[in-house]
Amino acid sequence: MSRLSNTRASFAPPDFLPGTVWLVGAGPGDPGLLTLLALHALKTADIVVYDALVSDAILRLARPEAAKEHAGKRGGKPSPLQPDISLRLVELARGGKRVLRLKGGDPFVFGRGGEEGFALAAAHIPFRIVPGITAGIGGLAYAGIPATHRDTNSAIAFVTGQGSGGALPDTVDWESLSRGAPVLVIYMALKNLDTIAARLIAAGRARTEPAAIISKATLPEQRVVETTLGAAAADAAAAGIEPPAVIAVGPVVRLRRELNWIDALAASALMPPR
Ligand code: SAH
Repeated sequence: MSRLSNTRASFAPPDFLPGTVWLVGAGPGDPGLLTLLALHALKTADIVVYDALVSDAILRLARPEAAKEHAGKRGGKPSPLQPDISLRLVELARGGKRVLRLKGGDPFVFGRGGEEGFALAAAHIPFRIVPGITAGIGGLAYAGIPATHRDTNSAIAFVTGQGSGGALPDTVDWESLSRGAPVLVIYMALKNLDTIAARLIAAGRARTEPAAIISKATLPEQRVVETTLGAAAADAAAAGIEPPAVIAVGPVVRLRRELNWIDALAASALMPPR
């Protein structure tokens, strides 16, 4: 008997109850990367409070009657303030709404999902966390770069290149990371890329180590610049790379030569040009 014959015939999502908040990751941009729970939330919510990083294609999947409210931050500018967003979620839930708080990538990966969860817990608002595909995973996959590979790395580190004020965060120990993480995926790295590369090189990483800058990952505007750690900042500037972008540093970047499936599909005309 097949193992599957015992399972439910279809996916039955949990009820999205009025007066509750779902903190949902929307993934990096391609609507195809939404989870079934995220799609269910979009189809059921009374209001969608979304970040700047949530793509239009995803917002268009929301129930047409759902209100949509932008609560994003761009380039480190806190607009509106985080406590204001949290208070707004509490207020909407208290008003009996089904509140979908939709964030780019995963809500708990550099997404301040924790802060919003704290506020909801303190206000006794029931909430659910729905993970999403983080840009550091989805972006690498769409660039044809495996996050791990048996021959190259058994560890990977996700790092932020920017603290809340925009400067290099002083909580990141670049020296230890350079020794301990053969592959680094750096979020919010464009602004401080020069400094980050210099710190890693000073700590012993090779200037010639392969690096890839992946901008607008999984969206039709995705761009990938293959470079080296030493040249990354200059190459990003020369190519006019725009945020959002993640930067992958390490030997896995070389595997893109064989695994760059998006460009291969486009070239083989199996997929319409992007
Ligand atoms: N919670 C998000 C991260 C938010 S921080 C997640 O899990 O992905 C914002 C940073 O995420 C950006 O500066 C960029 O480094 C990265 N990012 C988000 N979406 C991206 C995309 N489509 N392409 C490349 N980088 C992206």
